[in-house]
Amino acid sequence: MSAYHPLTESEAIDYARSLPDLFQPDSELTSREIGDGNLNLVFHISEPSTGKSIILKQALPYAKVVGESWPLTLDRARIESEALMIQESLCPDLVPHVYAYEPDLALTVMQDLSDHIIMRRGLIERNKYPLFAGHIGTFLARTLFYTSDLGMNQQEKKERVKRFINPELCKITEDLIFDDPYTDSPNNNVPPAIRDAVAAVWQDTGLHLEVAILREKFLTHAQALLHGDLHTGSIFIKPDSTKVIDPEFAYYGPMGFDIGAVFANLLLNFAAQEGWGEDEASRQDFRSYLTGTIRDVWETFEREFRELWDRHGTDRIAKTPGYQDWYMREVLRDTFGFTGSKMVRRVHGLAQVADINQIQDEAAKERAQRLALAIGTSLIKLNRQASSIGEMIEIAEKAV
Ligand code: ADP
Ligand code: MG
Ligand code: MG
Ligand code: MG
Repeated sequence: MSAYHPLTESEAIDYARSLPDLFQPDSELTSREIGDGNLNLVFHISEPSTGKSIILKQALPYAKVVGESWPLTLDRARIESEALMIQESLCPDLVPHVYAYEPDLALTVMQDLSDHIIMRRGLIERNKYPLFAGHIGTFLARTLFYTSDLGMNQQEKKERVKRFINPELCKITEDLIFDDPYTDSPNNNVPPAIRDAVAAVWQDTGLHLEVAILREKFLTHAQALLHGDLHTGSIFIKPDSTKVIDPEFAYYGPMGFDIGAVFANLLLNFAAQEGWGEDEASRQDFRSYLTGTIRDVWETFEREFRELWDRHGTDRIAKTPGYQDWYMREVLRDTFGFTGSKMVRRVHGLAQVADINQIQDEAAKERAQRLALAIGTSLIKLNRQASSIGEMIEIAEKAV
């Protein structure tokens, strides 16, 4: 099509019409921009006469995140579409199908998932999703195993790493997760009520050492192709289906970063129960659903990852006695550290979460923020000594 420019709703229709095999030649199409407008446009295109619909996601060349906008590479649309296609080849039911990718327009054409809801919203509404742990555990095991040196040829993997060097999006993570929250940075949004607890984070040099070590892993440990932004806002869900979207931050990094993103967002909702539960019993009930989910996700991930390793880890070194146990323990430890880091940044960093920020009662919101900070910092401090997922649950439960 034409040179890059942000599409209007009617241009999105013209583009959708030009795609082969999706819509009837002359039928009427409707178009609605449904994105939240920070980084990307998301058009919902539908054909009322047949009920067919698709999504067009177009990257914008800037991000409106910190006050004014900063330039941001359009290449992330390629990264997102390639990551989705790799993930679909490994987990066909767990990501939207990509119909097409148009590099000139930085546009991905994908399956419409409007019959699902964003999981963050679902958890705020206090829905339980009993199949989620199995689905996301499988997603993590398969995407992380098969893109690592355990599950693919090491030379092919290096070629893959080259396609997923994602410096600009990684810089957002490096700054917003591993740097700003630990210092009095203008990028933070410190809730005034918890300034004392945040100031303690800024002064905690033991905590800073752990974060420096985690950041070094994020910068250098090209272990597997990560989704890179696997919070509950990147998960579409309904009772019988889970779909992971929005992998524009995909790059080769440490496995625990993706697993930790899932756990951090479950624990942020755990902390937010201060504001959503009607009474102690209902808070307790939803919290045990969340911690049970964390346990089930880890157990599914570990079991399936070990099975894949046993069946497909043909490399002689992969069979070295003790190596698999050592490897799983390191992934668990990284998971603790990244879970904690992803919680802390959501309490007083630039971008926060609706689970906590939409709490109306100020006292309950403050309790939720303090709880999330306490759990997050404890997980970071424990990370290099962690030995079982039960310890994560214990830290969360004891902090309440
Ligand atoms: P961003 O990278 O800008 O966060 P997302 O991929 O997360 O973009 O999409 C933003 C919003 O657009 C989602 O929260 C969802 O409401 C909607 N959306 C994105 N992809 C789809 C899809 N495949 N089907 C239906 N809605 C979608
Ligand atoms: Mg968004
Ligand atoms: Mg998103
Ligand atoms: Mg995104």
